[in-house]
Amino acid sequence: MRETLFVQRRAWLAGIIASVGLAGLVVTAQQAAPDPQTAVNTAFKQFQTLKEGKNADYIPALAKVDPNLFGIALVTVDGKVFTAGDIKTEVSIQSISKVFTMAQVIQEQGLESIEKRIGVDATGARFNSIIAIEGVRSVVGTGAPEMNALVNPGAISSTSMVTGATSDAVWNKIIGFHNDAAGRSLSVLQDVYKSESDTNQRNQAIGALMYAYGYIKTDWHQAVDLYTRQCSIGVNARDLGMMAATLAAGGKNPVTGKQVMDAAKVPGVLAVMATAGLYDDSGKWLYHTGLPAKSGVGGGIIAVSPGKFGIAVIAPPLDDAGNSIKAQRAITAISNALGGNPLAPRR
Ligand code: GLN
Repeated sequence: MRETLFVQRRAWLAGIIASVGLAGLVVTAQQAAPDPQTAVNTAFKQFQTLKEGKNADYIPALAKVDPNLFGIALVTVDGKVFTAGDIKTEVSIQSISKVFTMAQVIQEQGLESIEKRIGVDATGARFNSIIAIEGVRSVVGTGAPEMNALVNPGAISSTSMVTGATSDAVWNKIIGFHNDAAGRSLSVLQDVYKSESDTNQRNQAIGALMYAYGYIKTDWHQAVDLYTRQCSIGVNARDLGMMAATLAAGGKNPVTGKQVMDAAKVPGVLAVMATAGLYDDSGKWLYHTGLPAKSGVGGGIIAVSPGKFGIAVIAPPLDDAGNSIKAQRAITAISNALGGNPLAPRR
């Protein structure tokens, strides 16, 4: 009897020792997770030679950008910057600007302003879809479409919601918000602005339609022009990393320390990014990364790991949905290596 008890105790003790050992192993595995610079370098090397996809060419100036341009910038919420590749060359921000103009409207007019006027649902359609505006309206004559501020119709409408007495006054607010998020003074790439202005008839049609349906209540020509200008803002990978980190840090630029928007409003911005940031591929992206993100046809993608880091990659060749292929691969690899997925259990 005594002996049995002893044997039982021994087994019990061995069990404890085994589980402590296992816990030790888990801790070691966590400690072995790469540091951000190693993760960034590894992804850079892994994807540098990838040759899939093609520059956007429906805006002629974008076809001329070097397809081999590849830069990565990860910025932590305490302002540490980790980079690889070309983080100096500027490309046009394109649709990534939609996030910051939407954020500006939310900051000024509250979370409900964007939800009520534009909506916060996925369209499931391409970024410049006109069918997405029509929704069921064209079939049954009535009914609101699914819409959000990160596809062109919603984005042109949110640009129209930025208040200001003149076009210049509105523009100064838009560029000012982008500057604050990036932590430096940005400027428009004039060749891209001209090229897109000469060829943006589809966006003009979208602007006119959004006015006709009451989403845009001011001059729609001005809204389309300012939208085109905001899409032509020049940014490098470091700028975009900083802008992503500003969202990761609850609206505070982690390097300049400026509170760009109220922390309480940031989750609304991130929710729309999670829903629609990579257009009709947003679900797939979220499935693999859990990260709110936004792409632009200039080749940039920003992604946000709330409370941890912002990351950006610039690499111009795009897939069929209009998202940079290398940027998607690199961000996924880096974030997953660092435990950046906000939907995964904390570690
Ligand atoms: N300026 C571009 C357009 O309106 C932006 C599109 C994008 O980056 N997806 O077509």
